[in-house]
Amino acid sequence: QIKEDLKHKSKTLPLIRVKQLLILSNFATLWLNGFSIIDASMQIAHQWHEGNGNWFARRVHALARHYQVFEQLPVEKHDSSSNNRSWLHNKSVQNCTREWLTTQSIGKVMPHNLQQSLNSIILPDLGMIPAKPLSICTARRWLIKLGWRRTVVRKGIYMGGHEHSDVVKYRNGIFLPAMEHFEKRMMKYEGPELECVKPPLSAGEKEIVAYFHDESSFHANEETRSLWLRDGEQPLRKKGRGCLIRISDFICEATGRLVVRDSSGEIVKDAWQVIYPGTNGNAWWDSAQLLAQVKAAIAIHNELHPDKQAVWVFDQSSNHAALPPDALRAFDMNKSDGGKQRKQRDMVIPMTNPIAEFRGQPQKMTTFTGEPKGLKTVLEEHGFDVRNLRAKCSPVCPFENNGCCMAWLLSQQDDFANQQSMLEQIIKDAGHECIFLPKFHCELNPIEMYWGWCKHRYREISKPNFSVAKRVALEVLNSCPIEVIRRFINHSWRFMSAYRLGLTGKAAAWAVRKQKQHRSVSQRAMLEIESVLN
Ligand SMILES: [Zn+2]
Repeated sequence: QIKEDLKHKSKTLPLIRVKQLLILSNFATLWLNGFSIIDASMQIAHQWHEGNGNWFARRVHALARHYQVFEQLPVEKHDSSSNNRSWLHNKSVQNCTREWLTTQSIGKVMPHNLQQSLNSIILPDLGMIPAKPLSICTARRWLIKLGWRRTVVRKGIYMGGHEHSDVVKYRNGIFLPAMEHFEKRMMKYEGPELECVKPPLSAGEKEIVAYFHDESSFHANEETRSLWLRDGEQPLRKKGRGCLIRISDFICEATGRLVVRDSSGEIVKDAWQVIYPGTNGNAWWDSAQLLAQVKAAIAIHNELHPDKQAVWVFDQSSNHAALPPDALRAFDMNKSDGGKQRKQRDMVIPMTNPIAEFRGQPQKMTTFTGEPKGLKTVLEEHGFDVRNLRAKCSPVCPFENNGCCMAWLLSQQDDFANQQSMLEQIIKDAGHECIFLPKFHCELNPIEMYWGWCKHRYREISKPNFSVAKRVALEVLNSCPIEVIRRFINHSWRFMSAYRLGLTGKAAAWAVRKQKQHRSVSQRAMLEIESVLN
């Protein structure tokens, strides 16, 4: 019957209907030759369309089903006389658009590919041909109406946590005042010429050098995302992004990267750690490697500036918060002394202890026979009455609790709740300072801009194999001029001052841009930096 229809009506039917009939006749042939319905749909989708044919296959399937039941093509519901309203008001347009969007893999939906599909597939298939093709603005508007949002993903975190109340509280209450305090004792590089300004120090005060830490990865096959090509040219892209080069490094205003150079300018000591995880059995970056790196970095600082104090700035990652093996953990403890429980370190009962008479007293965590103490003993030595309290809740404490059990009560005490991480301990034991950046504030870490600068250059250079990639990465990381690094650092200080002035978000970013006196970095590279920052 399809063939009959085709013969008789091909003259009178509009092109789109003929196309539908042709598809159906192909479909019927395949089906009669033993293809399953789904295979036949897919087969046709591949013939008629390039790329991912899932959506098209579904349309073919739906069309075939309709024809089977009604023995004619579906009647178009669209009334072409009323197209002054948005096409999206049409239910079938809306459904088909939504259906097309859901068949795209996650992260691949873009206004421009929706625009293309609307103009070349979705609307024509519904028998609708707009007077002029839909614009990219329309596609973007439809995406938003249908619930899609442009989202920036960084290290697997959805940005937008910027203004969480605990983040703001930490930023304004702890981080910014502490940094202001440190900045007063720092050497500054100011103005368009980055003139060096020494800090006014009172007697006995040490000058401070700030080191900003971060980790970054370079993939062996990372290449620039936009290319200039002649019509019809196809770039040869390698599959996947290739082996990994992982760097953990520090930057500072004094030397750029934290290195010691000899009289000829050659690097003789370097604080960076470069690893190639996954190749030659190189282990992944972990807390132990970071601690070893920080110890080496402290030694380099002490050699460069024996009379200066260092402030080490880290982000709040789990590696940086790792507690020592003898840390105090209330939930690891048993109710009574002895038995199978970890020995924890001795401490002093904090000055915030609710029962005043015990404040400042030493708290041994083992009994006189050397057995680890249990929850009951430790709490009683803090002065608590725990006779009517159970040891621990099972399986976990209730979400909103207030003194539900001994373990919870002890875990809330200052000596248990606010312990120094191993990282802080190493730094403070060496006579230096350590501070953690507020979460979601990569604009306050200038090394992020340095990574952006390096990555932009790294991507421009072609890297035929991994050993070349390694060499290029290290060369690029060493090629950033110290003036550029100083400007990156000034950029972050400007953000801090903007936040102190009460500016936030876009306003702060605008103020920081306004104050910039020189653009030493190319526009294209700035875009890369912007993409790292935002
Ligand atoms: Zn509890």
